[in-house]
Amino acid sequence: MSVIRSIVAVSLALTAYNSVAQAKELVVYSSRQEHLIQPVFDMYTEKTGVKVNFITDKEAPLMARLRAEGTNTPADIFMTVDAGNLWQAEEQDLFREVKSDIIEGNIPAQYRAESGKWTGLSLRARTIVYSTERVDPEELSTYEALADDSWKGRVCLRTSKKVYNQSLVATMIESIGAEETGEVIKGWMANLAAPVFSDDTALLQSIDAGQCDVGIVNTYYYGRLAKDNPDLKVKLFWPNQDGRGVHVNISGAGVTKHAKSPEEAIKFLEWLTTPEAQRIFADVNQEFPANDSVKPSEEVQAWGDFKPDTINVEVAGRRQPEAIMLMDQMGWN
Ligand code: FE
Repeated sequence: MSVIRSIVAVSLALTAYNSVAQAKELVVYSSRQEHLIQPVFDMYTEKTGVKVNFITDKEAPLMARLRAEGTNTPADIFMTVDAGNLWQAEEQDLFREVKSDIIEGNIPAQYRAESGKWTGLSLRARTIVYSTERVDPEELSTYEALADDSWKGRVCLRTSKKVYNQSLVATMIESIGAEETGEVIKGWMANLAAPVFSDDTALLQSIDAGQCDVGIVNTYYYGRLAKDNPDLKVKLFWPNQDGRGVHVNISGAGVTKHAKSPEEAIKFLEWLTTPEAQRIFADVNQEFPANDSVKPSEEVQAWGDFKPDTINVEVAGRRQPEAIMLMDQMGWN
């Protein structure tokens, strides 16, 4: 017992010393995969000498771990995808408030929490994809129009259990109301060509293979598949261009409530929003930089310009419970 106590005492003393003498290490809990974060973390280490250690897992176990570790957590930063998840983490009181002119200057307000507890670092559009063999893009217009009878037996969707669809529906509720959103979902369900998919890539492959004609996916899944399959018979379509625009979501991060090196963590988060980091962070996953002074990669630019929905992504979190209930009511599995 006393041995354990003295180890704890020593490590606490070291922690205290480290934070005073400027941490040379940071710890990130990330639900983004290693190959998407390692390049930019390495760049930071090279630049500053600060080592960035990380563990990766799905967002739910990482949040559970942060809760369980409480004040003892080694994590300085929590990084994940989707405003719905970031909002959940904020609700669970896992983040601390960060007031940073650098972050506010680099990231548009609709892509970060008003509280300052998290910020977007990259953007992805959740848009319509269609078969180049069986769909004339002239037939396409809005997300809502996929509920029309003309799409009967032609629509494919991912499961409603995925936060991406919950966020899409949450923002629709905010924009067009729960009643109309419910009608749209009912129409989508009536038009399904196949049971819901567990991931966006399988959905894209089913359009390519002829099982579905249209679907809704995140752009980077399309980018990855198209890169590996130049003959892919699927294209992106930007819906709602005469209205609110295409649903855009984020990947992002915040400094943990019990960070051991909060000052260093803030500096790192600030750096992640700078053009230097933004370029790599977005490009490795074929995403759009959240800092709008930075251009996307040529691959991504080739998808063409579109009008994004500029709704504050916090809505995706705030209306998530309503969205889940509505999807369930309308039979979206
Ligand atoms: Fe994803």
